[in-house]
Amino acid sequence: MSTVTQTAYLYKHAHPFQPRTIKAASGIWLTLENGQKILDATGGAAVTAIGHGDPRVKEAIIAQLDQVAYCHPGFYQTDIAQDLATFLVNTTHGKMSRALLTGSGSEAVEAAMKLARQYFLEQSPPQKSRHHFIARQGSWHGCTIATLAMGDFKVRKTIFSPILPENVSRVSACNSYRGMREGETTETFVARLAQELDDEFQRVGPENVCAFLAEPISGSPLGCMPPVPGYFAAIKAVCDRYGALLIFDEVMVGMGRTGTLHAWEQEDVVPDIQVVGKALGAGYIPISAVLANERVISAFKNGSKYFVHGQTYQSHPAACAAALQVQRIVQSDNLLENVRNMGKYLEQSLRDRLDKHPHVGNIRGRGLFWGIEFVANKETKAPLEPSLKVADKMHQTGMSKGYDIAIFQATGSAEGGWNGDHILLCPPYIVT
Ligand code: PLP
Repeated sequence: MSTVTQTAYLYKHAHPFQPRTIKAASGIWLTLENGQKILDATGGAAVTAIGHGDPRVKEAIIAQLDQVAYCHPGFYQTDIAQDLATFLVNTTHGKMSRALLTGSGSEAVEAAMKLARQYFLEQSPPQKSRHHFIARQGSWHGCTIATLAMGDFKVRKTIFSPILPENVSRVSACNSYRGMREGETTETFVARLAQELDDEFQRVGPENVCAFLAEPISGSPLGCMPPVPGYFAAIKAVCDRYGALLIFDEVMVGMGRTGTLHAWEQEDVVPDIQVVGKALGAGYIPISAVLANERVISAFKNGSKYFVHGQTYQSHPAACAAALQVQRIVQSDNLLENVRNMGKYLEQSLRDRLDKHPHVGNIRGRGLFWGIEFVANKETKAPLEPSLKVADKMHQTGMSKGYDIAIFQATGSAEGGWNGDHILLCPPYIVT
């Protein structure tokens, strides 16, 4: 195993191993400088949807660089940014009206928060008091100051708490494994969570709440937790009752990861604002997007017509070219179908092999996004934190066959640090 010796990086790696230097990447494989192959079973961080090194993306990027690599996004526009925005909006079949093209997931979530805030200022009269967000326990929305505050990833957050904004409060996540009470049905569980949200609106004052922010499927740190049927419909009804916006953070689970292009397609609701990242550009060039529905956009059309936001690398042409080509490949190569088929296969394999394991408490997921939660005792569900050992074991098992395997260790319910009680599997959509 090679190690990085240079220290110019300002980055302390969270992984127990030293970060290793990747020299090549193709399909689902990464290659180290000593030639060692690594199966990318997490698609990076749920990013590399179409796999590594697709020449079609390289060609699209080069063609765009030949045309225009960059122009000021405030004064000029490009066809490629228009094309990507149109493509994204069209995939929602009229549910979303406009797209803002940003760089990272964190930037996009933060732009979505600002959009929601300004939406209420565009009303006539402006609803100035609406600047409170309600988010959920066990969530992650990014590492910038505002998004860190929205999230609940304690090991990443605690030391920064003195500098985080406080306009956020939190309700329970829809954790069907740990959150359901004895004797509760799906319906009564949903009703209780909806009531908890309603109570939170009442506590904060509905006239102060701007939006409810949630990942449609909780990713990290909770460890891949799909909602139970009816949950988001009930949540949306509460938001509607008080006139607050619903923002879906689909950075991790959007753009196909769950088997539909948008994770919300599997719920009975459409959010007012949706954020996508990771799989949008699939790692070729950083890019993310914020999509907003007509309710939000019409407020701007009838109001100032101007979203007070602007970043140097917004609508970056080369990034847009990469993302548009990635999305065309997802369509032309039928990758969503592969996500669904391979997702079923992965689920069955995990259940067949692990359901009866005394320390596997819960296996859950959708499409090609799966979490395995470990427990010390299946009855008590006492957390067990072996995820580093599991990662190490997968490394050894793979190595006995000639390749290494990359997975995510997630902190999950234990919140004890990087050696958590979960692992996540989210391979590229091309996996066979
Ligand atoms: N939102 C969710 C749900 C995420 O999973 C992530 C990253 O893991 C982010 C936001 C932040 O995205 P980025 O790391 O690209 O800033």
